[in-house]
Amino acid sequence: MEEKPRYRAWFESLRNPAERHGLDEVVYTDADGGLLQVVHDMDELRKTSAEEWRELFDRRAHSSQWPYGSGVWGKKEWVLPEVSPENVVSMYEGNTNLFWAERYGREIGLEDLWLKLCGNTHTGSFKDLGMTVLVSQVKEMRARGGQIPAVACASTGDTSAALAAYAAAAEIPAIVFLPRGKISTAQLIQPVANGAMVFALDTDFDGCMNIVKEVAEKDGIYLANSMNSLRIEGQKTVGIEIVQQFDWEVPDWIIIPGGNLGNVSALAKGLDMLLDLGLVDRKPRIVCAQAQHANPLYRAYQRGFETFEPIHARPTLASAIQIGNPVSYEKAVDALKRYDGIVEEASESELAEACAEADRTGLFNCPHTGVALAAMKKLIARGDIRSQDRVVVVSTAHGLKFVDFKVAYHEMRIEGIDSSFPNPAIELPADYQTVRDTMLREIETRFGA
Ligand SMILES: *Cc1c(COP(=O)(O)O)cnc(C)c1O
Repeated sequence: MEEKPRYRAWFESLRNPAERHGLDEVVYTDADGGLLQVVHDMDELRKTSAEEWRELFDRRAHSSQWPYGSGVWGKKEWVLPEVSPENVVSMYEGNTNLFWAERYGREIGLEDLWLKLCGNTHTGSFKDLGMTVLVSQVKEMRARGGQIPAVACASTGDTSAALAAYAAAAEIPAIVFLPRGKISTAQLIQPVANGAMVFALDTDFDGCMNIVKEVAEKDGIYLANSMNSLRIEGQKTVGIEIVQQFDWEVPDWIIIPGGNLGNVSALAKGLDMLLDLGLVDRKPRIVCAQAQHANPLYRAYQRGFETFEPIHARPTLASAIQIGNPVSYEKAVDALKRYDGIVEEASESELAEACAEADRTGLFNCPHTGVALAAMKKLIARGDIRSQDRVVVVSTAHGLKFVDFKVAYHEMRIEGIDSSFPNPAIELPADYQTVRDTMLREIETRFGA
């Protein structure tokens, strides 16, 4: 067996490393209300050489040996070493495709542009990576007699979809709180279909967050939001996986959209482990991209991270990142400082046009990926990113979850956005002559010399 139970991990206060808790304790913050993080016994992990880790991870990827074929559980020793394999709740998330966006790169002046399609996974967003870990830990705790009646989250859509699916697979009751009318139909129907208890509340994400925290505190419901640092452990595999997919070579840039800022923190945490355990010896630079309508991190960055002020996030097409008071702010700032980070923002028009422009080259981007693409274009224009640099854009969700936005764009119905690349369907009677005339005219205008 490959199982190596000697590895250990625990919760530790971010500000006070002396405060520790077991991963089977129901605890989300430290004694002062600050963030916890999962810390691993690095000395124990170091007893295995970098070469052995690389070899083990490569061998497991895509295998059918439960649960190691999952991108997350293939790194089980680095993620959640003590959970027993029979309590792992996995849908073989991770190991998503990383591909060379040759045409799009060429059009915007990059030779070596790659997209990491985290949306090509069970529920259509990277949230699966963290949720498999959290729900597995809950299943383990319940199996050992822990009293956890249900798991709950506040969500801008994708978190609730992931929670509902994993909880359903494990037969654990799930409760989700969504801001009414602020998420896409595809996102709403996922927890509904998976049998979760779905509350659509008259508030925004931050308002839902307050409710779920209260329910966790007063009613013993297990909190599945990313302030629960178990999620970060799964999400951190994205950075490890990117490097692994380049045969353990580190790219120059990784660009990722940020809302609650768990994901950018997770990305850096995974890279930290690669460096710490000697699997790589250099760092990429990290760019966190925010929607201008929900940009508290960008504003803090402009002030050299001297001060942080929560903002009231305004509606954005990138609805999953409409967050004004990000839970993982502190972790994100640390992460950006370690990785010579940059924060950039994108307006509604910039993100929509970036999505559409890239879609024309065969991609199918969600609006959050559009935020990252728009930020990248600004960095290219400024000369921060150079044409030969190897750049990876983390695409966080599948475009099919956000078709309402794409339809509106191509029908030129989004207020304040010009739709520079519209391509609406041409509606005609089923008459050969009319079709032919239109077709030839369109070929001439679109592709003519
Ligand atoms: C959750 C989410 C994000 C933002 O991740 P954070 O950890 O909240 O910063 C970005 N894109 C999509 C599609 C998401 O679902």
